[in-house]
Amino acid sequence: MFIIWGFRDLDKELGNVEYLHCNRCNNDSTWRLMKRTSWFTLFFIPVIPYHRVYYVYCPICRWSTKVPKEEAKRIMEKN
Ligand SMILES: [Zn+2]
Repeated sequence: MFIIWGFRDLDKELGNVEYLHCNRCNNDSTWRLMKRTSWFTLFFIPVIPYHRVYYVYCPICRWSTKVPKEEAKRIMEKN
C-alpha cells in the first residue's frame, strides 16, 4: 500500500489592518491581515498544522511583511 504525504501552505484572510502607505507600489490602501498555516498532508488532505505565521499585506501589489502573533491578535481585536 502506498502512503502519499506532503506539505502544504494554506492562507486565511483575517480582516483589515489600517489605511497605510505602501513603499513598494506607492499606493494608499487598507492593508489586510493574513494567517498562513503550514500543514502536513496525508493523501493531499491537511491533517497536522506544524507552523503558523501572520502577515500584513498591501492588497494592491501583495507585498507583505510578517507580524508577531501578539500583534496579529491586537489587530483582530480592533476588527
Ligand atoms: Zn503595494
